[in-house]
Amino acid sequence: MKNFTYLQPKDLKEATTVLQKFPQESLPYAGGTDLLGLMKDGVLEPQRLVNLKTLTGLQGISYRPGKELELGALTTISEIAENQSLAEKFPLLTQAARQVASPQLRNVGTLGGNLCQRPRCWYFRGDFPCLRKGGDICYAVDGENKFHCVIGGRPCYIVHPSDMAVALLAYNATVEIQSPQKSRRVNLKDFFVLPQDDYLHENILRPGEIVTRIRVPESAPGTKALFLKVKEREVWDFATVSLAMVLVTSGKQITAARVALGGVAPVPWLEETVSRSLPGFTLGKDAPEALAGQVLKAAEPLEQNAYKVILARNLFKQALEELAKS
Ligand SMILES: Cc1cc2nc3c(=O)[nH]c(=O)nc-3n(C[C@H](O)[C@H](O)[C@H](O)COP(=O)(O)OP(=O)(O)OC[C@H]3O[C@@H](n4cnc5c(N)ncnc54)[C@H](O)[C@@H]3O)c2cc1C
Repeated sequence: MKNFTYLQPKDLKEATTVLQKFPQESLPYAGGTDLLGLMKDGVLEPQRLVNLKTLTGLQGISYRPGKELELGALTTISEIAENQSLAEKFPLLTQAARQVASPQLRNVGTLGGNLCQRPRCWYFRGDFPCLRKGGDICYAVDGENKFHCVIGGRPCYIVHPSDMAVALLAYNATVEIQSPQKSRRVNLKDFFVLPQDDYLHENILRPGEIVTRIRVPESAPGTKALFLKVKEREVWDFATVSLAMVLVTSGKQITAARVALGGVAPVPWLEETVSRSLPGFTLGKDAPEALAGQVLKAAEPLEQNAYKVILARNLFKQALEELAKS
């Protein structure tokens, strides 16, 4: 690993100012579970790491009935996994957090870091001058592409690795972003960028900006939610495909829905057409086959990953069946 300077800013203003002043050379550092691996492998070589962990105001979970849920960017994944109010009111977050990595990584990894982690593509992480590292081609197109994306890829076929993002997207969360000058709030869906718009970055953060807080609107009465994740290995692993489903119901009838997928696209993927088609559907009565066929309808799988489309459709049916019983 190359030498770097470890900076301990006294407050958010100082942290964001340093990051803005040295845009190519400095990076925010939270738990370090992703960043240090990338530095050890020589994929990233920042000259300055700006420690966020001791900044005040970015920690913790705050929920009051009738208000939005607030999650500080430095909240650890373990805190989310273990919080009782979240398990009752926002079960998708609990279910997703409990499936992120291993207990040790969850104890250290933060929510902000989870959303901003870099792709797991073996060409990006390996010794390949790929498109995302400023090279000319995406090696996945003609290479080993079993775990790459099936939709939204051109010209770079990564998948977004965050489980928390998939759950938060289904909950229609927003992200608060702070720069030295101002704070802004964006919908999580607009936080992530497709490679067709920017193949060097996974999100809209500009130099000097950090994620400070994530907010989730309170769920409507009659909301049911489920997060499902398929991994290649039974122990901790990234999602091959994951699905988060949020249904607002009146009796067994669905009145509103949001379905998000992970492991299929360079961004956490909102299934907009299917989400719009679900209202009117009666849980446990209407057969989900026809709707399942709409999931990833526009997919363009690579040579080795068409199985992801089938997997996503089966997860969709499984989620509807399980939520019908709840
Ligand atoms: C072996 C292994 C298995 C894993 N399995 C899973 C899994 O199954 N599911 C899953 O979702 N994740 C998984 N992860 C990813 C893990 O959850 C993330 O590494 C972790 O959440 C990142 O948090 P961190 O605080 O350590 O981030 P860091 O490593 O400190 O930072 C990660 C990136 O985000 C940036 N960053 C950090 N905080 C902020 C902020 N507040 N604002 C702006 N940028 C920021 C950093 O500059 C860096 O680029 C795994 C990781 C490992 C190493």
